[in-house]
Amino acid sequence: MKQEIQITDDKYLFEILNKSEFEREDVVYLLKLTNEKHISELFKKADLIRKEFCGDEVHLRGIIEFSNFCEQDCVYCGLRKSNNLLERYRMSVDEIIETAKKIYSAGIKTVVLQSGEDSHYTKEDITHIIKSIKEFCDVAITLSLGERSFDEYDEWKSAGADRYLLKHETANEKIYSALHSKQELEERLIHLKYLKSIGFQAGSGNIIGLPGQTIEDIADDILLCKELDCDMCSFSPFIPSPETPLKNISPADLKLTLNTMAVGRIVLKNVHIPSTTALSTLTPEGRKLGLTVGANVIMPNFTPDKYKDKYRIYANKKTYDPIKFVEEIKQMIHSMGRKVSEDKGHSLKQ
Ligand code: SAM
Repeated sequence: MKQEIQITDDKYLFEILNKSEFEREDVVYLLKLTNEKHISELFKKADLIRKEFCGDEVHLRGIIEFSNFCEQDCVYCGLRKSNNLLERYRMSVDEIIETAKKIYSAGIKTVVLQSGEDSHYTKEDITHIIKSIKEFCDVAITLSLGERSFDEYDEWKSAGADRYLLKHETANEKIYSALHSKQELEERLIHLKYLKSIGFQAGSGNIIGLPGQTIEDIADDILLCKELDCDMCSFSPFIPSPETPLKNISPADLKLTLNTMAVGRIVLKNVHIPSTTALSTLTPEGRKLGLTVGANVIMPNFTPDKYKDKYRIYANKKTYDPIKFVEEIKQMIHSMGRKVSEDKGHSLKQ
């Protein structure tokens, strides 16, 4: 009898894994898998889909966290405006451009410019940074500056920026409103749709393990990325920051994080999925594990040493020498039978 139940369970799992379109209940079922054998089938399928739609190449994106000033007050984030314990910094325009050149010299073909929401950098400042980087370096540029005006998005796209990362964080409107005193989910989605409509490769994604979040909410996160037709999707674990109201909330569950990445790959197929720094903060083997469950992107951090400790989104964020890190990551990628991409790694949908 027990064996019959097992066979029925296995059959149902394979039926779902072999679907090409997924209902919400399928996504919830896959996210809820706990049986080790079933999880191993889930990861195997995610890796196969990754290979079929993205190939064996892993794309490196060099990130510069150029300002930790933030006008928003996201309850989970150490950069939040009301965190008075954080020493704030801003990199100058020239420092940002020089750091981008270092990324390019390290052989990396994407520069990611990230900051808190910091209107100190005007539309013209960011335009100048984009144009200067493009003049000196043959790289793609990803912006991750939070919500800015549509006029600014237009101008930065015309200046040569290629991609924009703006995670929706959670598809549950109530949780979104509870965590963002000044922002609404609906507004975030309007921005994401606008970015996509003017030709940006758009990135969204969630935080896994937020208070009150259910497995159904995480299924909705994945399905929302599909609806938005995202080019990049980041599924990353919540890590508490001691300087925020969520300091006593436990970090995300590792198994659920890996399940989410795998299900994200299976449902979304031709999107870029990073193996995140947050995942490597959750567990030392995180980056490698992420690459085995569907991820195809790693983002080495090139923020200059004097600033990087201060970009404290959450606790225990790992810091390292970026040049050594890139060498180690390349070795790791090769040891997994994968390749380091030599191109810009544009959207797989173009
Ligand atoms: N200001 C930009 C924005 O809002 O998109 C980019 C900077 S923001 C610090 C980058 C990302 O950090 C957010 O999208 C969020 O998902 C992540 N983040 C913030 N606090 C976190 C935490 N405690 N655990 C995990 N991720 C966190």
